[in-house]
Amino acid sequence: MKVCKFGGSSLADAGQLTKVIDIVLSDPQRRIVVVSAPGKRNKGDTKVTDLLIALAQKALDGADTTAALAAVVARYAEIASDLGLGDGVVREIETDLTERLAQVPSAGGDAGGFMDLLKAAGEDNNAKLVAVAFQKRGKKARYASPKDTGMILEGEAGNATLHLDSYKRLARAFSDFEGIVVYPGFFGYRMDGSVATFPRGGSDITGSILAAAVRADVYENFTDVDSVYPVDPRLVPEVKAGIDTMTYREMRELSYAGFGVFNDEAIFPAVQARIPINVRNTNHPGEPGTMIVQTRRVMPGTVTGIASAGGFTNIIIDKYLMNRQVGFTRRLLTILEEEGVSYEHIPSGIDSISVIIRGDHFEPAVEKRTVTRIKRELDPDSVIVSHDYVVLMVVGEGMCYSAGMLARATTALADAGINISMVNQGASEISFMLGIKSADRDRAVRALYGAFFGE
Ligand code: ASP
Repeated sequence: MKVCKFGGSSLADAGQLTKVIDIVLSDPQRRIVVVSAPGKRNKGDTKVTDLLIALAQKALDGADTTAALAAVVARYAEIASDLGLGDGVVREIETDLTERLAQVPSAGGDAGGFMDLLKAAGEDNNAKLVAVAFQKRGKKARYASPKDTGMILEGEAGNATLHLDSYKRLARAFSDFEGIVVYPGFFGYRMDGSVATFPRGGSDITGSILAAAVRADVYENFTDVDSVYPVDPRLVPEVKAGIDTMTYREMRELSYAGFGVFNDEAIFPAVQARIPINVRNTNHPGEPGTMIVQTRRVMPGTVTGIASAGGFTNIIIDKYLMNRQVGFTRRLLTILEEEGVSYEHIPSGIDSISVIIRGDHFEPAVEKRTVTRIKRELDPDSVIVSHDYVVLMVVGEGMCYSAGMLARATTALADAGINISMVNQGASEISFMLGIKSADRDRAVRALYGAFFGE
């Protein structure tokens, strides 16, 4: 059996949805279809999830929600009308949204929970609509609810994680079913029955969880690119060949550093259950896409991909004879822990240590407090905070035990006149990271592409 997930751009309008139905019906193994909310129909368009966030915000602000609600309903109505599904399903969607809006908390109430309730409506209603579209084609298909099937989540609103009991419940719910099941991505329910969502882009996670729960033969993730590319084609338009096979580890490292094609948290459930992931294009279903698997044959000395992620903050702490001070790093980590700051990397020298933090984990007020405490409690010679820091990541199983990989990268950057302010290589040797200023980002990625993939 195959679990296939279709992203928002694959479901943005009736034309796209028709492609989705054709793809699913072309292979009887495709039995579980996970859907996102309708995405952008064109560049200037707004995703339904973003319309829902705006709607929820209006409700929380006590403002008039009429126009914002109509904008969401109009997206579904357009698809339903273009496919001739009748307006019953649209009326149901409108009623559902109105009922959700009625649950707006009063001031001081659970605004995060309400936001999740509204965000989840995008996928939930789309799954109902897509099931109707399959039925209209004369196929046996039904919507399945994350509540009834046991998709139990926990953790903070908008950033929930899976409760591990879910696997048994989902496996039981799907132990025997007929036809095609259309399942909404992106959300689940807490033990208390309230809705919780994964982080943005989280329908990939739902698909991966279901694939693991039902022990699918493959998890097909349909999006709008032919494959995963070794570098962002927007930065290097000449990149033509996609990656045909890569390992889970490679994908995890690349998606961590900005490969948006597959949500990095989504890899984990598939990895645990050893389910191959196939990234494919809804618009070119004949293309084989990229397979992501546990192991593959590697050519020594080769790189699989180059990623770059911006928005990091780097705190550089200098203290003469730091290497001789027992407990310096522990005290630094204690400050970070007490301030609730999760760090990404801590490269260190003899008399200096840097803490690299993702910008979205570091609010200005927390930054100020953290830096003040570092100055007061660690008595450093200097503390420099540098924003706008970019991490370049060069990834490839073929780099293990291959001499000269880092040299190629640093030479390429030196030739391009780019200063490297941090180098970090994990023990696995399948990747290394280079820290640079954001102004150099595009040139740096192109220089690295030239070094590893050029003629
Ligand atoms: N619709 C949600 C988002 O826009 C989840 C998803 O598409 O995966 O983030």
